[in-house]
Amino acid sequence: MSAQTPKLADFRRIVVKVGSSLLVDSAKGVLRREWLDALVDDVAERAKAGDELLVVSSGAIAMGRNVLKLARGALKLEESQAAAAVGQIALARVWFDALARHGLTGAQVLLTLGDTEERRRYLNARSTIAKLLELRAVPIINENDTVATTEIRYGDNDRLGARVATMMSADLLVLLSDVDGLYDAPPNENRDAKLVPVVPRVTAEIERMAGAAGSELSRGGMRTKIEAAKIATAAGVHMVIAAGHKLHPLRAIAEGGPCTWFLTAANPITARKKWIGGSLEPKGAIHVDAGAVAALRRGKSLLPAGVVRVEGTFARGDAVLIRGPEGAEVGRGLVAYDKEDAERLVGQNSERIETILGYRGRSEMVHRDDLVIAGE
Ligand code: GLU
Repeated sequence: MSAQTPKLADFRRIVVKVGSSLLVDSAKGVLRREWLDALVDDVAERAKAGDELLVVSSGAIAMGRNVLKLARGALKLEESQAAAAVGQIALARVWFDALARHGLTGAQVLLTLGDTEERRRYLNARSTIAKLLELRAVPIINENDTVATTEIRYGDNDRLGARVATMMSADLLVLLSDVDGLYDAPPNENRDAKLVPVVPRVTAEIERMAGAAGSELSRGGMRTKIEAAKIATAAGVHMVIAAGHKLHPLRAIAEGGPCTWFLTAANPITARKKWIGGSLEPKGAIHVDAGAVAALRRGKSLLPAGVVRVEGTFARGDAVLIRGPEGAEVGRGLVAYDKEDAERLVGQNSERIETILGYRGRSEMVHRDDLVIAGE
């Protein structure tokens, strides 16, 4: 089994989810600064080595409830939302400052469920986060608790972390929490409970092992972590659960400390392409010239210059067919412009996009990450 255990050093784009109980001392309701600084040391070490790091951080409610002096115990939804509005300011600030010590820039991104589920909003969120990574900033992501209401909220950052990891085609999701992994029996009730080091696949047995362990501050018990594992691994993202309480929790994983790895068979790009190629209904077609067909087959993006005609009614982010000069399907992809704008860009050089449309759109009609070529 150990032969299959991945190493932290194998991964290039990593989402680290930090639970509230790690960041905030529950008894005092204050930030655990020494711990945060040590985690950020680990993050900075990886970022300097060229890896891309994204953080999904809880803690807004935990920090805000203290400032607002809300009573201990469960909060009503509106109280959590008010607490999040206050606490998110402090949360963003502590991350920003901790990263700045290493010369890194933190960027706050607040998402709601809809931003990761609805296609156009998903594409917007994805391109913003991709731009931040390109600019070497570290996105600090949380749910936009203040506006997310019961029916449309995640409510836990384990699943949000998994959706962010799949949305960004990350190769690893790290869940840092108050447990060091999955046990074959509830560890607080059973002294013989053993940590499961590797889960090759989330089976019914694994789901049974996940008790409802949780603490006052973190809503996410093992159950939501297993849900996160299902989302992540189905989309080609590996996941690891490790204890976060100690200092330098990422370094501990790298050094082989206790944790549970959830493996994926798929690779994230392949999984994403499968989704584009298989599950989306094309809303139109883009006809391209022979030069564009050749470029697409060499792995390039589709530029407006290679487009000869567009067909159908599509909006930005919709799936479209790409057809060659003879009308044969060359591939499928998500188009970066709606029908009207795409029509105005037919045959144009990408440099002219701003002049033609009056805004600076993407240089590609269909970006290669959003493209599946037939027979690939
Ligand atoms: N978004 C919530 C917060 O920042 C936390 C949700 C969770 O801990 O899973 O307070």
